[in-house]
Amino acid sequence: MSVNESLARNSYAAAGQSHIVLAENISEAQFALLEKVCPAGLFQRNAAGVAMINYRGCLECGCCRVIAGSSTLKQWRYPASGCGIALRFG
Ligand code: SF4
Repeated sequence: MSVNESLARNSYAAAGQSHIVLAENISEAQFALLEKVCPAGLFQRNAAGVAMINYRGCLECGCCRVIAGSSTLKQWRYPASGCGIALRFG
């Protein structure tokens, strides 16, 4: 099973707004680092070239927070209670 196939099996309850917010005016190098570290590939540029995050698919692993820090991410917190990824055990 590929990574994308595995990710597609996850279940999420989307919150109304992102729990992760990019800092303003981050550099190309900072954004490239986010693109590289996110295991779900959620940091992307839209058609206009604007850096963005597809927070609805977040695995809540914290990799971006640990690697990038507050100069790149203005906010990182868990989604509101009842929202985010549904973890399965066993
Ligand atoms: S917490 Fe993990 S899955 Fe979510 S955006 Fe950061 S690196 Fe990607």
